[in-house]
Amino acid sequence: MEALSSLGVETLEIRKSEDIDKVDRLVIPGGESTAISMLLDWNGMRDPIQKAIAAGMPMFGTCAGMIVLAREVLDGREDQTPLGAIDITVRRNAFGRQVDSFETNIEVVGFDDPFPSVFIRAPIVESVGEGVEVFATVDDKIVLCGTELILVASFHPELSNDRRIHEMFLSMEASGTQG
Ligand code: GLN
Repeated sequence: MEALSSLGVETLEIRKSEDIDKVDRLVIPGGESTAISMLLDWNGMRDPIQKAIAAGMPMFGTCAGMIVLAREVLDGREDQTPLGAIDITVRRNAFGRQVDSFETNIEVVGFDDPFPSVFIRAPIVESVGEGVEVFATVDDKIVLCGTELILVASFHPELSNDRRIHEMFLSMEASGTQG
């Protein structure tokens, strides 16, 4: 929320199903994807978010949020059901224990300078379907990709003092089918 506010965007925490009607784009943040997945069901948020995806609302998933937006999750819990908003297969905690958290500068398609990125028990994208563009990799692992409406990052762009990835998200336009 601070990252978006610093770009002049009004933000709102979504905690109840009806809150989704109050926003025109959605960030699913980091945390724990198994817990987020369960809470989506407990709070009755899954259907409203699925409807918003179908209606073309732009969404940005960071770390656990990327896992929640994926089509397929590897090394997840059996009862962890992702939203399937973007045709990617994601592996949880994919950097292993020794380097489970680290910072590195990554090259991002379209950026003039590297982006300083913070990885915390991060997932990677193992494969992308048609229509998903890869924007950045680390050691050949996909860590930033997206479609016209859905942007996903393995890392936490909000923890860097660099707002270019949030700007990328804000430049994504809702699709025409949105009511
Ligand atoms: N490892 C967490 C998960 O699988 C994600 C960690 C994060 O969001 N920083 O959900």
